[in-house]
Amino acid sequence: MIEPGATIGILGDGQLGRMIVLAAARLGYRCHVYGPEPDSPAKQVTPYATTAAYGDRAALARFAAAVDVVTFEFENVPADTAEILAAIKPVRPGANALRIAQDRLKEKNFLRSIDVATAQYREVASAEALVRAARDIGPHGVLKTVRGGYDGKGQVAIRADTDLATAWREMGAELGILESYVDFLCEISVIVARGTGGDWAAYVPVENHHAHHILDTTIAPARIAPAVAMRAEAIARHVADRLELVGLLAVEMFVTSTGEVLVNELAPRPHNSGHWTIDACVTSQFEQLVRAVCGLPLGSPERHSDAVMTNLIGGDIERWREALAEPATKLHLYGKAKMAPGRKMGHVTRLLPRRD
Ligand code: AMP
Repeated sequence: MIEPGATIGILGDGQLGRMIVLAAARLGYRCHVYGPEPDSPAKQVTPYATTAAYGDRAALARFAAAVDVVTFEFENVPADTAEILAAIKPVRPGANALRIAQDRLKEKNFLRSIDVATAQYREVASAEALVRAARDIGPHGVLKTVRGGYDGKGQVAIRADTDLATAWREMGAELGILESYVDFLCEISVIVARGTGGDWAAYVPVENHHAHHILDTTIAPARIAPAVAMRAEAIARHVADRLELVGLLAVEMFVTSTGEVLVNELAPRPHNSGHWTIDACVTSQFEQLVRAVCGLPLGSPERHSDAVMTNLIGGDIERWREALAEPATKLHLYGKAKMAPGRKMGHVTRLLPRRD
């Protein structure tokens, strides 16, 4: 067990790191944040920081020597970064979860290998392969880069009249994946924590609404049938078990009109759709991560309130005054010095009486 007073190393210095640091501090841990930005959301809330590139071996080794356990808030770090660190200190979740979550093809292949349903997909390595893939899985789909895409970046919608050569160029990478278009009823996610002894705790499935490919609103709990919620939770638990994950896993899923649950994406870290847990649950996702990676007992994921979380994106940050004027709304700002369109600047959580 890594006891309070120890130092948790966090790779990545954004808002997720900031909220991990704040939760860890409440339990008496120190956090050392590693990332490329000097005045970042996470570094503003801890004096222990390394500002270096994710591939800087010497800086990584010094960082690992200074901490007791390493976790991350950002999974797109070079593959060997986690391995360099793991040779010195425990990295939780481990390099395997990282490798799978960074690569949409490995992710989908892994999910299929453990009998988890996904959209149909094909690997695509050229414009010609895209033509063949579209013939195989139908003309309505989404072409995505295999690596490095998030918040809809590197994605091109494909329809019957799309010029596939243009779509291939637009995607702008050497390797892609064509997924069949899922005509979903809603998008949900489940966040599950798994401890060092295989113990687990899952948050209730939540409903996610996107605007311009970026999460806009999370409604907790999701408005889905109890049987669908149970299936979603069972899937998330199954994936975490099979990854032998220690930490948090967010599983994004589509619910279809026939009640089918298809997994879209995995994130082995705290997730934007779990921010509501800070204000509405006994244990937040951030505290749960700290408990899991330190080998402490997991806390209760039970919610005492229902909640609606809305991101403050770009100019939405101006709404902070309105948020403060609402008695049942909690405001969270990330301390980002520069506002940019599409940049997550903060979020608000509106608490509602629990309905069930
Ligand atoms: P992703 O980056 O994979 O999370 O995709 C971003 C968003 O694009 C998702 O949250 C969905 O709204 C949409 N999307 C992604 N893949 C598909 C798909 N195969 N079918 C329908 N919509 C999709």
